[in-house]
Amino acid sequence: MRAVGAILRDPAKPFTIEEFELADPGPGEVLVRVVGVGLCHTDLLLRDRPALPLPMVFGHEGSGVVEAVGPGVRRIAPGDHVVLSYDSCGWCGQCQAGSSAYCDEFTARNLTGTRPDGTTGARDLAGGPLAARWFGQSSFATHALATERNVVPVDPALPLALLGPLACGIQTGVGSVLNSLRVPPGAGIAVFGVGTVGLAAVMAARIAGADEIVAVDLHPRRLALALELGATRAVDGAEPELAAAVGQVDHTLDTTGVPEVMHTAIAVLRPRGSCGLVGGGSGQLTVRPQLLAGRMLRYLIEGEAVPHQFIPRLIGLWKQGRLPFDRLVRSYPLTAVNEAERDAADGTAIKPVLLPGSP
Ligand SMILES: [Zn+2]
Ligand SMILES: [Zn+2]
Repeated sequence: MRAVGAILRDPAKPFTIEEFELADPGPGEVLVRVVGVGLCHTDLLLRDRPALPLPMVFGHEGSGVVEAVGPGVRRIAPGDHVVLSYDSCGWCGQCQAGSSAYCDEFTARNLTGTRPDGTTGARDLAGGPLAARWFGQSSFATHALATERNVVPVDPALPLALLGPLACGIQTGVGSVLNSLRVPPGAGIAVFGVGTVGLAAVMAARIAGADEIVAVDLHPRRLALALELGATRAVDGAEPELAAAVGQVDHTLDTTGVPEVMHTAIAVLRPRGSCGLVGGGSGQLTVRPQLLAGRMLRYLIEGEAVPHQFIPRLIGLWKQGRLPFDRLVRSYPLTAVNEAERDAADGTAIKPVLLPGSP
């Protein structure tokens, strides 16, 4: 079939909107008509690390309606409303233990742009190869091929176009606090960087009953929103004595990936505290071992969440008004993908959501 997608051909150039050929769903696959897709930092990885096969269709926070299913698909049917999350194999030891974020095939299934066997199911109109399996979906497009395993059915009564960000950014922030750091009632937490993941972490810390929730960022508008969403204190990230300004806390989450900030996130921990890192930066973190005395440090993938279990929970929290993630969303037509990227970079938009179905 013909689909239309935002294609990246050169890491130094804007996305181009192009038609491309998408194969019928193969064994275990589903074809989804995408109605909304969030723009996440990881979609822009290539801007600094041009190591992946181009051209590629990015997009890994999709939501849409199933149009067709391939051989062997039993649990998903045409017409189902679904959220498209990260893919995993379901068979390795990590998947069997409920830790699919650490699946042995995580990289092969999510970060290469191809199926595990190296094919993609897509070609550009000149017949050239097109990587279109980013996070098992490549949803910056009108249609995406996903797998039965990485689509999560949702209630058709919900506003489907809004739900994509639950698949990565919101899941990562909330999961890091509730599943990984397991912040208990009464605890103190500092969140470094309050974009989508950090703001989701702030909302989760309030859900967890944390007494002190410190938000750290360089953008005053993001800090103001963090205070509205549950932060008890906001700290300017440019503060020269940042550790002193934050004070001691039990838990920290770094979403910036900046080595100095990650170091501060460890330095402010009380003994027996824990620090989670989710920032995808390429810098090196150097820590004097004694700084970690009695403290835990862990790099966290996807909030260590199992999408089929966690996304329904996130929807439940949103319906109760405890996770108003829709306040972070700003919508754009798919054709405005470059404007959405600019707005995300300069802080105008916290979570752009592209709407491939609207003109
Ligand atoms: Zn696995
Ligand atoms: Zn993401």
